[in-house]
Amino acid sequence: MDILRAPRITLIARPQFLEPAHLPVQWRGEAGDGERLAEFAGRLCYMSQANPAKRDTGEYLDNIKKQGHGSVLEHAVYVLLIEGISRSCSHELVRHRAGFGYSQLSQRYVDESHAAFVVPPAMLGDAPLEAAWLAQVTAAQAAYVAAVEDLMRRYEWVADKVHRRKMAREAARSLLPNATETKIVVSGNVRAWRTMLELRCGEGAEQEIRRMAVAVLRVLAAEAPLLFRDFEIYRAEDGAEAARVTYHKV
Ligand SMILES: Cc1cc2nc3c(=O)[nH]c(=O)nc-3n(C[C@H](O)[C@H](O)[C@H](O)COP(=O)(O)OP(=O)(O)OC[C@H]3O[C@@H](n4cnc5c(N)ncnc54)[C@H](O)[C@@H]3O)c2cc1C
Repeated sequence: MDILRAPRITLIARPQFLEPAHLPVQWRGEAGDGERLAEFAGRLCYMSQANPAKRDTGEYLDNIKKQGHGSVLEHAVYVLLIEGISRSCSHELVRHRAGFGYSQLSQRYVDESHAAFVVPPAMLGDAPLEAAWLAQVTAAQAAYVAAVEDLMRRYEWVADKVHRRKMAREAARSLLPNATETKIVVSGNVRAWRTMLELRCGEGAEQEIRRMAVAVLRVLAAEAPLLFRDFEIYRAEDGAEAARVTYHKV
């Protein structure tokens, strides 16, 4: 049985900006496609492609965030594959609706007999606590496997084997703990990502989603620093990482 102690975040798609030849912008500074796309959209609103204030893209986007012109940030969409999080963590994640799209591993279709489990961060480093937790999830997984077998027998009369397995797994999953690992593809525009990160990187957020949000922030800030550079990761008094933001939700 795989026991996971950290999330894994992989960027799987980024925006591609195709600058229209008839509306060229006087760019300043280096920037990626998502950053340029947001700047282009912002400048279109005032037809300021000539860049009269001579701002580089980072300065321009800082001003957009400061002014609360958040709709400009909606054009840039980044897609992440998030793995190594628990079902309880993903349940909290998918509460973020505006600007997000989700595709998550189905426990109705996928056999969870060999699922991995995520240790709650609050237990990490406490050997007796981790050992008791491990025994409990092992028992839960065994109960799941037994229930699938019993349900397959109960529904033997269902001729379509794929359908029968789905019937068995969708009922047996009720025995799987919240700690069961899930995988989820999350697409989000920058306005949506920033809102989620502000809420979930905070010290008030539940520890696992906070750890995941900080990891997401690292990936997005490395990919598009000019869109996320006002977030600051720090070590909070409770010993875990958190992040604060300069320009709040818009
Ligand atoms: C520390 C913490 C504790 C939490 N505890 C609980 C809890 O105990 N129970 C619980 O149920 N949830 C809880 N939540 C989840 C919380 O209630 C939200 O569901 C979650 O944070 C998503 O926020 P949101 O709705 O603003 O996000 P999104 O759905 O992404 O919305 C983003 C923004 O878009 C606007 N918006 C979105 N939908 C609408 C709409 N229909 N109408 C008008 N405006 C809209 C709002 O401005 C909203 O802030 C908690 C969240 C945090 C961060």
